[in-house]
Amino acid sequence: MPHYHIWTIGCQMNKADSERIAGYLEQMGYQPSPKAEEAEIIVLNSCVVRQSAEDRVINRLNSLKSLKSGKILALTGCIVDSRVDGLRHRFPHVDLFFAPQAFFELVRFLEDRGLAPKGLDSGLVTLRPKPSAFVTIIQGCNNFCSYCIVPYRRGRERSRPVAEVVCEVEELARRGVKEVILLGQNVDSYGHDLPEMHTLADLLVELNQIDGLVRIRFLTSHPKDMSQRLIEAMAQLEKVCEHLSLPLQAGDDDILRAMRRGYTVQQYRQLVGRIRHALPYLAMSSDVIVGFPGESEGQFGKTYDLLRELRFDTVHVACYSPRPGTIAARKLRDEVPAEEKIRRRKKIEMLQEGIATEINRKLLSQTVEVLVEGRKKGKWWGRTRTDKLVFFEDEADRMGQLVEVKLEKTSPWSLQGGLAR
Ligand code: SAM
Ligand code: SF4
Repeated sequence: MPHYHIWTIGCQMNKADSERIAGYLEQMGYQPSPKAEEAEIIVLNSCVVRQSAEDRVINRLNSLKSLKSGKILALTGCIVDSRVDGLRHRFPHVDLFFAPQAFFELVRFLEDRGLAPKGLDSGLVTLRPKPSAFVTIIQGCNNFCSYCIVPYRRGRERSRPVAEVVCEVEELARRGVKEVILLGQNVDSYGHDLPEMHTLADLLVELNQIDGLVRIRFLTSHPKDMSQRLIEAMAQLEKVCEHLSLPLQAGDDDILRAMRRGYTVQQYRQLVGRIRHALPYLAMSSDVIVGFPGESEGQFGKTYDLLRELRFDTVHVACYSPRPGTIAARKLRDEVPAEEKIRRRKKIEMLQEGIATEINRKLLSQTVEVLVEGRKKGKWWGRTRTDKLVFFEDEADRMGQLVEVKLEKTSPWSLQGGLAR
């Protein structure tokens, strides 16, 4: 039986795309291989959101050169833009470049070479049933935040029709999936381009009725687009989890304006207040960029202070990285030195470690519902509705089950406990 190997970096969108590609390849009779050396087909799913990610992709591509003979190497993800010729010239050992979501180009490529049966079902969903599955509901982004390359690589927003998403989630639930994570660069603008003008709140109402499905999550929300109706839907619909990803990016109004984020610090603060009022048990995660062009020590301090005030459960901190073609890279000088960006990043990470330690410590001795997703180093692991990682030991096979775990140990990154009896 021939094998495939998929290497993925980047956001959940990429992970979702890789799951989909794996589904197609398995439908064609290929088996997964954890090692590229043992696979006939290698797919690299790339990210270029920051230079460091792009460097990793290029290193990986170069390291595969020596391994290549007799194998098919395909490259997808955000490194693939409309000018494939440049990539072809740089990486002649790559057989196929296909844009994110253009899975069928891979299928056709394999069919044309007699490496896949013809007439594959394009409506196929992930083959391997898992307790939790990603479902992309809106592709692309219309926002053009000044630092971000995503709209250039993933194009404009395109929502999938409600009926199509519902049908896919029903099928996933039939195959045993208990949790879906709805994905989009900006999920709050879901539906604005559909003829019926549905919203994310409408979609959540539909999905909440699906038998067998027990949890619904969605990400990423945009502070300028998050509606009161969505907040109310989250509060009312029992399957929608108490977790929200709401990127802040900066705690200073001038930087936010230069980032073209479309909200002020005060608007963000009020939004968080409204959300927490409606959803008191909500866990929140946020993203921050440090060292954006012109960010002074004082402006950085405002971001730091705002994070200390708002106390999120998780914060992803990134050092600003100029991306070719973006507004910031064209118009603003990347003037904060690299070592200063790293110092700022570490300062926020230390702050956040303290906050997460305190938030998680409060969970000690509580019993939480965990959806078991796998096994690592002799322990079962899964997540709470608030997206906290939980480890516990048990002899029985708990894969895919919803269990109650009494927490005995907490850390900023994960929780540990035993089955509540
Ligand atoms: N759509 C989401 C949003 O509005 O934040 C996230 C998309 S972006 C791919 C994921 C994260 O990467 C962002 O939240 C941002 O913090 C970070 N990011 C994007 N472009 C960046 C850049 N040029 N330099 C550093 N970090 C960047
Ligand atoms: Fe990038 Fe902004 Fe779109 Fe998020 S909302 S993908 S940061 S342009």
